[in-house]
Parts: sequence; structure tokens; C-alpha cells
Amino acid sequence: MSSSSSRRIEADNIIVTDNPNVPLLPSKVETLRPCTKTWFKGTLPLIIVIFLFSFTFFTYIFFSSRPLMKSGDKRIRLVGLVSLLIYCTLLAFTLLSFLFCVFLDPGSVSAIDLESFGTKLPYCQICNQPKPERSHHCSRCRRCIKKMDHHCPWINNCVGWRNLKAFLLFCSYTAILAMIVAGFIIARIIISFVYEEPDTKMHVLHWILLGITMFLAFMIVLMLTSFVSNHYYLVFRNMTSLEYWRNKREYDESQGRSTQDFKSRWCPMLAEHMAHRFDLGPYENFKQVFGNNPLFWIFPWPTAIGNGIDWPLPEDEDHSARPNSDT
Ligand SMILES: [Zn+2]
Ligand SMILES: [Zn+2]
Repeated sequence: MSSSSSRRIEADNIIVTDNPNVPLLPSKVETLRPCTKTWFKGTLPLIIVIFLFSFTFFTYIFFSSRPLMKSGDKRIRLVGLVSLLIYCTLLAFTLLSFLFCVFLDPGSVSAIDLESFGTKLPYCQICNQPKPERSHHCSRCRRCIKKMDHHCPWINNCVGWRNLKAFLLFCSYTAILAMIVAGFIIARIIISFVYEEPDTKMHVLHWILLGITMFLAFMIVLMLTSFVSNHYYLVFRNMTSLEYWRNKREYDESQGRSTQDFKSRWCPMLAEHMAHRFDLGPYENFKQVFGNNPLFWIFPWPTAIGNGIDWPLPEDEDHSARPNSDT
């Protein structure tokens, strides 16, 4: 039996082979696609993010923490020092997460991955190659990404199986950082009124720059809180954003609802009733993204369970015996 006669593409982009010994992709190494996202076009959002971090760093350090640390009052100097230490620690975690988001491979399909495939697998018509279950073709990166969530222009990268944890941590740390910045700037303004020392006095430039920083901080908190909450909810349901949309559409159609109405929009926390076949329970679902060891949950390097190809199902009694480390 020749390889061409043993393979055929069926409905739903499923490729089927009758003979498991026949190589599925004789030239599979050549068909694997490198990432082709354009760094030139994708650089502008990255520059905006870096500028925002640099601007808030400059104004916060020089116009909020530093004046407090120069105060003659010991207690005010302590407030300035604590605000500086908390800010710098959180900023380090945030920037580290950002680097992992931008430069970590989100889960592209390799030749070794394809060797793990069985005889029935999804097929990407654009890459012209099989792809693991739960993976999706990114039109921006022009390749398939394992457990793809979405393509994020702010990191100029896909969010997928390997960097979802880094992405969630980056968004979480940024939101917390913005809250802390806003909180300490308010404290700095109150101190300047209460103590009226020359060193802690607010000048016009201080008001303008700290006002802009406060505004940015509030906007970031406002935008990220809802976004991150919904994404954590999806993690606890073991669902990607793309899977949420597909499940939501199917659910709406089964309920006879229009997919255009308000309830059909992106708000996963309102979709607790939707069934999802990969849902193993909140704790197991969380560990699939953040790993087994709680000590590493706060660090952005990848610790996701599994290999991005095989996904345990609730009825799969042997799922605990599957590979459980991503090194
Ligand atoms: Zn593809
Ligand atoms: Zn992408």
C-alpha cells in the first residue's frame, strides 16, 4: 500500500491513515513552519509598553519615592524606602514575565511532536501538516501553536501552551504594580500636605507628572482587572479563549440564542454552565498551566504539565500517569 493511498483528508480537517506504519509526513521537517511574524510592524506596541514602564519608573522614583526618602522625618523616610523596595521587587517580576512573554516560544509544532501523533489527527490546511489537538493556526505568526489562546500585539507573540503562565503573571503583576503606584502616590500627596517640608513639597512639575502616572495606573488597573479575571477563570475551566468562543457559540445555538447578543460576548465568567471536555476540576486545571510545584507558580518560566499534545480527559482514568513535566 502506498502512502498516498493510505491517507485521505476527511470532513472537519481530520487526516486518517489506514496503516499506522506509513509515515504521515514524508517531508515533515521541511513543512514545519518557522515563526514569520513581522518584528517591524509588531514593534510599535512593544515600544509603547516599554515607554509606559520607563515613564512610570522615572516619575515614581524621582517624584514620589525619592522626595520621601530625603525627608527629615524618620517615619516618612521609612515610607519612601518601603515604597521603593516594594515597587522595585514587583517591577523586576513584571519585566521578567514580560521578557518570557515576548521571547518564549508559545508552543510551535516540531518534527519530534509529530512523531507522537496517532493515526487520526487534526490537519492544518494552511501549514499543510498535521497539528496537535487544541492547537490553532495563527494568521499573524503563520504557524500552528499548541493550545493557542490568542495572538497578543502587546507582546508581539502568540499566547499558547508554553507562555500562558508568563502572560497571566505579566498581566497580574502589571495590575498589582499599577495599584501600588497609585496607592503610594496618593500617600506621597497626603504627606506633602500634612508635613509641608521643603523636601516633600509638591511642585507644579510633580503634580503634572504624578497626575499623568496616576491616570495611567488607574487605566491599567481598569483594563487589566477584568481581562485577567476572565483569563484566570478560563484557566480554572481548562479552556482557551478560542475554545471559549467555540463552546459559547455551540451553547448559544443549542439554546436558540443569537450569537450577536450581549451575553455572547467575551465574558467567560458568565459562562460557568458551559460544558468543556478537558475540564478536570479547578485545581487540576490550574496545575496544567502553572505546574505541580507551588514554589514556581510566581515565576514566569514554563512549568506547564504535559507535552502540549496529549490532553487528559475527565473519564480518562490513566491521565495521572501521563508525562507531567515541561523541562
Ligand atoms: Zn497551521
Ligand atoms: Zn501568533
